[in-house]
Amino acid sequence: MVEKRIVLKSATELAKMRRAGRIVAEVLAALREMIRPGLTTAALEARAVELATRLGGIPSFKGYNGFPAALCVSVNDEVVHGIPGSRRLLEGDIVSLDFGAIYEGYHGDGAITVPVGSVSAEAARLLRVTEEALALGIAAAREGNRLLAIGRAIQEHVEAAGFSVVRDLVGHGIGRAMHEPPQVPNYVAGFTYNPRLRRGMTLAIEPMVNVGGFEVRTLLDGWTVVTKDGSLSAHFEHTVVITEGEPEIMTRL
Ligand code: MG
Repeated sequence: MVEKRIVLKSATELAKMRRAGRIVAEVLAALREMIRPGLTTAALEARAVELATRLGGIPSFKGYNGFPAALCVSVNDEVVHGIPGSRRLLEGDIVSLDFGAIYEGYHGDGAITVPVGSVSAEAARLLRVTEEALALGIAAAREGNRLLAIGRAIQEHVEAAGFSVVRDLVGHGIGRAMHEPPQVPNYVAGFTYNPRLRRGMTLAIEPMVNVGGFEVRTLLDGWTVVTKDGSLSAHFEHTVVITEGEPEIMTRL
């Protein structure tokens, strides 16, 4: 596989990415507060657009490769790229919210999975393990480490918990474009491109974790990715920059 050059960001660029990331963080925090049984997924979309715009950001997903919304809302066995609409959240659901924003030409990208009311012990454990896996992946994203250290840390934690890491979708470099080199896999098998991480690299790290098998399929709407076995799936994502020390998380309040 040919990998194009990884762009290192200047201080000026990082300042813009910080603003974009802050907008994503504020939107996701506001949406988390709204989650309750009976809410439509379209109401989450409307709030995301309204708040991001008020904060000076441009939602980045709408129209991206033709995606019809600004927010991805993926419920239960939906992994990613769910399209908001008339569906109402139910007590016991888990809902993944993925949002991206642009500020002065620079992107931020983040995701959280939220319980709707009280959820099963298994669903709660899935959310905890996936969020922990993201934290471990971020902790591995240090200057001098290699890229696949991120996926190794994520995969080890997820599989030790008895869950599986989605293979068909990966994290990515981010900056002037939402998707830049390199791909940031959440597992290591089959990947040979493994550069050293350098300060100024900006990555969207985003484990997608299934209770059952790792296999996924896409629904007939052309977007919604679901687990093949119908098991629950969770997704947490942060945009980070590699520094001389701990990575800086740009999509956290
Ligand atoms: Mg992403």
